[in-house]
Amino acid sequence: MTTIYILDDDAQQVDLLLEFVNAINLSASGFTEAHLFIKHEIFNHDIVILDLNMPGMDGIEVMRKLHSQNSLPTYILISGFDDRVLHSAKQFADAKKITVDGTFTKPVDIQKFIFHVNKLHQKLNLRPNENTEDLDEIFPTVADNKGPSPYELKVALKEHQLTLHYQPQLDMKTGGLNGFEALVRWQHPEQGLLLPKKFIALAESNNIISELTSEVVQLVARDYFEFQKSGIHQRISINLSNLELLDLSLPEKLFSHFTEKDISPDAIVIELTETVLSASVSNSLDVLNRLRMKGFSLSIDDFGTGYSSLVQLYQAPFTELKIDQNFVANMTKDDEAASIVKICILLAKELKMKSIAEGVETQEAWTALQNLGCDVAQGYLISKPMPVKACCDWVKAKQLTINSLSSNI
Ligand code: C2E
Ligand code: CA
Ligand code: CA
Repeated sequence: MTTIYILDDDAQQVDLLLEFVNAINLSASGFTEAHLFIKHEIFNHDIVILDLNMPGMDGIEVMRKLHSQNSLPTYILISGFDDRVLHSAKQFADAKKITVDGTFTKPVDIQKFIFHVNKLHQKLNLRPNENTEDLDEIFPTVADNKGPSPYELKVALKEHQLTLHYQPQLDMKTGGLNGFEALVRWQHPEQGLLLPKKFIALAESNNIISELTSEVVQLVARDYFEFQKSGIHQRISINLSNLELLDLSLPEKLFSHFTEKDISPDAIVIELTETVLSASVSNSLDVLNRLRMKGFSLSIDDFGTGYSSLVQLYQAPFTELKIDQNFVANMTKDDEAASIVKICILLAKELKMKSIAEGVETQEAWTALQNLGCDVAQGYLISKPMPVKACCDWVKAKQLTINSLSSNI
């Protein structure tokens, strides 16, 4: 089994790369000291992600040492300097018949990097003798009996097999509508309607998540007018993968996507999970701020499951906080869960964010949340997610009772 090693004298860079390798469910070991690293037993089927510019022993020296110990892993080279360093390292490797599969300059384009590492890992583990260029072809067969393949997902995007279901959110004080969360589904030709857990991670690890989001954005824009036609003027929340925050042009892209269709960013809430704060990516704060400045609302999803600090939460420009559904589901049975929900609501208030409880399934939970001063609720008690037309009908049918929901569901 392939082990992935990351060697860079910059500890932050090591942490960052480790985090992103972990994000695609591969494990890696990080090193900041070259002399410690080369004492390790490195096998020929291992991957070494190597920074070339390190004080003391540099990357070329590391390759030379391992070569002299007959250890010939596959390298991915990273350099902070110009391309020439990479070029000469590559020449050295070629001369020694050392395999270098890819080179990156800092700052590393994480999406490309992850895609690359994932492919290389698959190649080394599945078809050791296969030509890398053919990997796209072999992906479908590899994933055959384990749900859809990346290839199928690409086809699905092209053929517009994705669709959105909307889950209403209610204001807990007035009982009125607060908005809808758009949740993606895949109408698979053979397997029926697939939930996101079957394909979001697949999209993330195969570098197709931004295409998926583009499709989601197109669908939201179309459905937005469907809601308008029915006289429903509400905010729509969309979910983005944290990986997408590494794209510095994301704010501009989303802004033009929506404004070109005459949809104001005020009508859109962007949900990101809490881990976005703990990731040591300084760029993400920049992207978050620019999204906010362009008028999008920002929601921190699954709050309570990550490890963000109060300072991080305070610094990020989120407008709402979604309390993770596990705490909400357990709050009426479990004191600890109840305390966490309470603290989340207080925290949101203190930081001037709207608190939203997800996964509200019972009247009991609704009442408990209301007593704690929670702003908004979302969950099966109110409604399951549904296609846009059904959602419009639901709103019409409920219009009369919506206001009394807090007292007599
Ligand atoms: P999430 O953002 O936390 O979405 C809430 C999930 O909880 C949804 O699952 C929803 O159907 C489910 N849910 C809502 N109310 C209740 C309830 O009362 N009880 C229970 N047990 N569950 C409830 P779903 O639709 O399967 O989505 C799963 C996750 O997939 C989402 O979690 C989100 O992280 C991700 N996702 C969904 N749509 C997209 C998308 O367009 N793009 C990206 N990147 N991720 C998406
Ligand atoms: Ca969400
Ligand atoms: Ca959530």
